[in-house]
Amino acid sequence: MSDEVSKAKAAAGTQQQEETIFSKIVDRKIPADIIYEDDTSLAFRDVTPQAPIHFLVIPKKPLARLSLAEDVDTPLLGHLMSVARKVAKQEKLDNGFRIVINDGPDGAQSVYHLHIHVMGGRQMGWPPG
Ligand code: IMP
Repeated sequence: MSDEVSKAKAAAGTQQQEETIFSKIVDRKIPADIIYEDDTSLAFRDVTPQAPIHFLVIPKKPLARLSLAEDVDTPLLGHLMSVARKVAKQEKLDNGFRIVINDGPDGAQSVYHLHIHVMGGRQMGWPPG
């Protein structure tokens, strides 16, 4: 089992936790390499990058996982996608990039605050693990 999957399994029991490490980044309680911010979202570099460029786009509001989003969140979800696109351009990922959202235990989600992974700067493979 990969280290990431082990972390995800360990985190599955904490899904209901309101304050995650990402809420703490939003509240500036812990540092992060923030590369984009607006009223509703934040993008920062992943601390364990899986590609030369690897950043996360998150909503400021603590939505735990994509599968718990509601219809009222649809504009926010669209906005996060748009931010991912803009920051990918800012990061000069002109040759393409990979977007991933891990959801829940089977999706190997380890932090229960919705986040879009954006990875680029190398050739991606398929299928993912
Ligand atoms: P998940 O497995 O999709 O939940 O991804 C969580 C991601 O958050 C992993 O890629 C981690 O490397 C990343 N991560 C965890 N803590 C931090 C942090 O404090 N700053 C930036 N990235 C983090």
